[in-house]
Amino acid sequence: MYKSTLVQLSTALESKKISSEELIRLYIERCNKHNNSLNCFITITEEEALKKARQADKKRASGDYNLLTGIPIAQKDIFCTSGTKTTCGSKMLDNFIAPYDATLIKKMNNAGLIMLGKTNMDEFAMGSSNETSFYGPVKNPWDESRVPGGSSGGSASAVAARLSPAATGTDTGGSIRQPSSFCGITGLKPTYGRVSRYGMVAFASSLDQGGPMTQTAEDAALIMNIIAGFDEHDSTSTEKPTDNYTEKLNNSIKGLKIGLPKQYFDENLDNNVAEVIENGLKELEKLGAKCVDVELPHTELSIPAYYVVAPAECSSNLSRYDGVRFGHRCKEPKDLSDLYCRSRQEGFGKEVKRRIMTGTYVLSAGYYDAYYIKAQKIRQIISNDFKNVFKNVDIIAGPTTTGVAFKLNEKLNDPISMYLSDLYTVSVNLAGLPAISVPSGFINKLPVGMQLIGNYFQESLLMNVAHQYQKVTDWHQKIPQAYE
Ligand code: GLN
Repeated sequence: MYKSTLVQLSTALESKKISSEELIRLYIERCNKHNNSLNCFITITEEEALKKARQADKKRASGDYNLLTGIPIAQKDIFCTSGTKTTCGSKMLDNFIAPYDATLIKKMNNAGLIMLGKTNMDEFAMGSSNETSFYGPVKNPWDESRVPGGSSGGSASAVAARLSPAATGTDTGGSIRQPSSFCGITGLKPTYGRVSRYGMVAFASSLDQGGPMTQTAEDAALIMNIIAGFDEHDSTSTEKPTDNYTEKLNNSIKGLKIGLPKQYFDENLDNNVAEVIENGLKELEKLGAKCVDVELPHTELSIPAYYVVAPAECSSNLSRYDGVRFGHRCKEPKDLSDLYCRSRQEGFGKEVKRRIMTGTYVLSAGYYDAYYIKAQKIRQIISNDFKNVFKNVDIIAGPTTTGVAFKLNEKLNDPISMYLSDLYTVSVNLAGLPAISVPSGFINKLPVGMQLIGNYFQESLLMNVAHQYQKVTDWHQKIPQAYE
């Protein structure tokens, strides 16, 4: 049963093959058994989940239920959950219990989904390996000497090892797609503004976006049906009506025009990954899609632009952690300045401090024009590149990452090489576009994801293409041997 997708679990509950209580017990058992080695959960909410499961069973018996009532899900520890701590992977928030639920959490609760626990992540979502977490690194279930990717590494690892049938993630520069690629699952980053950011701990507000991390595109569509939509609590959330994402999954992709950016297939890309992606594209061509070469000429500027904009916004967002209102407070401060300094010094880890310093620097009076304004201009140029390409194609395809999951500690002390590994993901956030990573093959038993990028609000098309692909391939069904 633990190998089931959300769709299959929904059917199993409907036909009374299993009760929600049995289902939750099964997953909690798996979480408790494997979390010691994988470290993908910061908190497992066993009692609360069982209580909710019993309520869900009653609801189902009374006829008052939804498609996903009584089905488990893992939530990234960046989403505020009332009653359960929200750490964001940081010592700063080690004891923080939010007084309210994030909109995404509230919507999932209302839909009847049951939270199994809060997943581990890079501190404040800053990282590509999940090694910056205060709670220690997460392991990749395909090879425990390797990283699961980041920052939503706990969610990716949990779904890949089937400790949860699905999870949530957030993507500021690739944090849904890159760990999904490294762990062999499906991850969708929606269009900026499609899913509410209310109650999602802010990293870089103009880039942050929450979304589903699932086994299949079909499951991602089910989750999107729940979480997408306008929220008056988030001023950047869009009023544009949502699609019924499930309804559009079965459209034919005959005649679909796919753009292949030359810059995504150059010397930065590992040859073996290139081969996997090319095979994936052949499958899409067999389904009737047509591939054409396109140019995203400013791709190489995306990393420098992102690593100016994101730290700038982070330095501003994280100024709220001052030891006064909430979060870590140092012991026996001498005066106010000592309280600020030591609370922040003790509460933040190395990578977060690096970002705050970079961000403060690029925003400072003497450098604002040279760095921050320049980066914003490049951001516009990158958006324009996409705009031009989407005049001629329906979607863009390429790799999600330059290589497969790397070894723990391999890049930890080399931030530049860590940053460079985000080459194919960050420009999508700079432009605010939707994109999905779909399992497309393996290299030496390590998963590889293919990235599909859509025009604004085309997430239904992306899930449609991914679903058609998953109907003719089985990469998304593979489970790491140790977790079979
Ligand atoms: N790896 C990128 C960073 O470190 C992206 C993180 C994210 O998407 N949250 O900023």
